[in-house]
Amino acid sequence: MSKTIISMKKKKRIALIAHDNRKIDLLEWAKYNRDLLAQHELFGTGTTGQLISNELKLNVHRFKSGPLGGDQQVGAKISEGDIDFLIFFWDPLEPLPHDPDIKALLRIAVVYNIPVACNRSTADFIISSPLMSVEYPRELIDYKERIVRPEGMGFNIL
Ligand code: PGA
Repeated sequence: MSKTIISMKKKKRIALIAHDNRKIDLLEWAKYNRDLLAQHELFGTGTTGQLISNELKLNVHRFKSGPLGGDQQVGAKISEGDIDFLIFFWDPLEPLPHDPDIKALLRIAVVYNIPVACNRSTADFIISSPLMSVEYPRELIDYKERIVRPEGMGFNIL
């Protein structure tokens, strides 16, 4: 399967999202890691982004709130190569109205091979990785080869 490489720069573009029952945990984590986070560019869904920006006194580019399309906006940015790392503390105990968006976001993060932390220990391991402070060649699998439409349709995936 052919692959292409996308270079993740030294300064990473990090998206932060937490569901309501997980926001305190993410805020605590972000406060603890403020100095490391300050070296990167931060993005967030509406409420999470606002809370983190207020608490850390750092600039956070904010998308819409998750239930209003914020998760989909983050997914779109990942597919465009504009987000390098996703910290997504989703709630494992409650169904939410935007569950399909959450699933879609986690899926697109896998398609584009970006690191994803869904809990604190994973976030700790990733933020303290030496790879956070160097350029990193991220491999992209060319999934087009797998999305073959039946012959006779006259077109293939672009
Ligand atoms: P929020 O959205 O940051 O606006 O709360 C997060 C989510 O529920 O996905």
